[in-house]
Amino acid sequence: MALDADWAERWVRRTADAIADAKDELTELDRQIGDGDHGENLDRGFKAVVARLDDAATESGPDERTVGDVLKLVATTLMSTVGGASGPLYGTAYLRAAKVSGRPQIDPPAVVAVLEAALEGVSSRGKATVGEKTMVDAWHAAVEAAEAAANDGGSEVDVLRAAAAAADTAATGTIPLVATKGRASYLGERSAGHEDPGARSTALVLGAAMAAALSGPTPADPSSAA
Ligand code: ADP
Ligand code: MG
Repeated sequence: MALDADWAERWVRRTADAIADAKDELTELDRQIGDGDHGENLDRGFKAVVARLDDAATESGPDERTVGDVLKLVATTLMSTVGGASGPLYGTAYLRAAKVSGRPQIDPPAVVAVLEAALEGVSSRGKATVGEKTMVDAWHAAVEAAEAAANDGGSEVDVLRAAAAAADTAATGTIPLVATKGRASYLGERSAGHEDPGARSTALVLGAAMAAALSGPTPADPSSAA
């Protein structure tokens, strides 16, 4: 089962739900080592993305979208609606991911390429490398695990499952780290002992990608309407 634009739309809608559910948790993490707005920032952004997808769903005609079309809509919406560091960071991630997925369907190597492009977007925009207690840690772990799964001949679901699990572990793994990038770095050693909010939200984003690949279109999903 190759992944198509409907999958991308399910991914984004599931991400919006996951972020809304975790909004308070993300905000609390950001309160501990930042300014307490990460949950609000992302919830506002993904709600705006869903509103744009809903608008687009009312347009009739055959679905000729590419995966990249959906990811580009996410990028531009997040860039214009999310303040703080995470808006441009996620915006760049989705924009780079969109650039490598401009076709109707993507196979496992292309899923890896999407994740690699997102990582590259975040790290070039934030000038952060792995181990600096940022979302880069989660994206980096996800890419490595996804590559290994694809090299083993895994399916799209296998690749995304590996990526999501690795991002989740990496997010937890940021707890003992001392932040050297972003707002949390102002705390120096005192940033240790707390999970990075952006690494946690990245794990949610990738968990949603896997869940969207596992589930086909549902009646509740307007994109599946005949
Ligand atoms: P802000 O820090 O401006 O309030 P958010 O709270 O929305 O923005 O997002 C904070 C998250 O952004 C951090 O938890 C971290 O994962 C990520 N982040 C911040 N700065 C950088 C950076 N330079 N590179 C990569 N990620 C970063
Ligand atoms: Mg913040």
